Amino acid sequence: MSSEHASAVDTFMQGLKKRNPGEPEFHQAVEEVVETLMPFVLANKQYLDGRILDRLTEPDRVVIFRVCWEDDDGNIRTNRAWRVQFNNSIGPYKGGMRFHPTVTLSVLKFLGFEQIFKNSLTGLPMGGAKGGSNFNPKGKSDREVMRFCQSLMVELHRHIGEDTDVPAGDIGVGAREISYLFGHYKRLVNRFTGVLTGKGLAFGGSLVRTEATGYGAVYFMQNMLARVGDGLEGKTAVVSGSGNVATYCAQKLIQSGAKPLTLSDSGGFIHDPDGITQEKLDWVVDLKTQRRGRISEYTQQFPGTTFHEGQRPWSVPCDLAFPCATQNELEEEEAKTLVGNGLKAAAEGANMPSTLGAIRIFLGNQIPFGPAKAANAGGVGVSGLEQSQNSLRIAWSAEEVEDRLKSIMESIHEQCVQYGGGGDAGYCNYVQGANVAGFVKVADAMLAYGVV
Ligand code: NDP
Repeated sequence: MSSEHASAVDTFMQGLKKRNPGEPEFHQAVEEVVETLMPFVLANKQYLDGRILDRLTEPDRVVIFRVCWEDDDGNIRTNRAWRVQFNNSIGPYKGGMRFHPTVTLSVLKFLGFEQIFKNSLTGLPMGGAKGGSNFNPKGKSDREVMRFCQSLMVELHRHIGEDTDVPAGDIGVGAREISYLFGHYKRLVNRFTGVLTGKGLAFGGSLVRTEATGYGAVYFMQNMLARVGDGLEGKTAVVSGSGNVATYCAQKLIQSGAKPLTLSDSGGFIHDPDGITQEKLDWVVDLKTQRRGRISEYTQQFPGTTFHEGQRPWSVPCDLAFPCATQNELEEEEAKTLVGNGLKAAAEGANMPSTLGAIRIFLGNQIPFGPAKAANAGGVGVSGLEQSQNSLRIAWSAEEVEDRLKSIMESIHEQCVQYGGGGDAGYCNYVQGANVAGFVKVADAMLAYGVV
């Protein structure tokens, strides 16, 4: 970065931090974007004159509300919930809801900000938003989760709608939670509309939505490898997480002839040197979604495997890395270890799993690196397709949805290459490519609207 760019980034970040104190995750997400966008913005005066970066980093609105509910023992419990409606320049707000004790306004602002670029990259008309609560579904009964979801929807329903804001799932919000939320929305407004995505197949959900984020990350990896004349067949992969994204990422790797070696949760990671097979993965999905157990149980079920308590899987030598659990789970030193062990490429299934330091290591070593807003956009892509199917009142086949998902990921890859430098054969900086390609569409719409 030139000194002119570095000083412009520094000035911008100082102002942002002053306006948004105590929001480290939001600062980090903006810094990653602004670092790569600044040269482009400085070279394209219309964005500078239109103060697009200032406007883009200020959410349209944030709704904060109390959620009271009763637990199974009759105790009154209070949680806080948010909906961050960040930017609707190119379509209705769209982004998941996260239920996890670590949820704060800062986390949701980082996620909502990222979502603007990601949704733009899909080519579908979707703005950026995110929401959630510090409610912890772990250890709660189904009835407690239901009462919480219903209470949350009593407030949330005032702010969402199929043409306004369409939430989906995220960490801690899966099929069960979406069903409770949608059931209560329908009851409150007396209308059956596609206001949430990730719905059950019996009530407007799309085939392949559950699989889409994990599958999409593998398709993105496939595209990155193909560009350098390589493929997935025979590759070993380290995957973190054991939720929705991680398990379907592992599934697509297996289907593509690659060998996933690890999975994890907040307790630690499991290492299966023989590779996780589809049969073993089915057991994990049942463990996590039905029995709501811990990944450490894998070693009792499958001999010859090990559990590493409190550790992350990045020390396991591999060709490919897929961080699919949560933010900031892959740090600079871990990136160095991966590169030292011969890493060929990395794709982010989770949102902002790599720290800025880790990203710099990947880029500095010319490792093809698919950032979250590009590599995990398959989930929101198929959510967009669910909205289309709901509006058209039709349901596409699994093959049709998966073909569209593949095309979306291919097109995102192409856009990244277009803006990521490197020409036909050189190293492509996908971080820069994704940020600039996602930005241009939104920024042009904002300029067209005038000062709003
Ligand atoms: P799930 O709730 O299904 O799974 C989350 C996984 O991550 C679990 O294995 C969980 O372990 C682990 N995890 C969560 N928090 C932490 C933590 N603080 N430290 C270590 N491990 C943790 O969520 P998803 O799979 O849906 O989401 C995973 C990531 O992918 C998130 O970053 C999400 O924003 C992103 N994403 C998800 C999309 C989707 O379609 N679902 C779309 C795009 C991005 P434990 O059970 O111990 O908490």
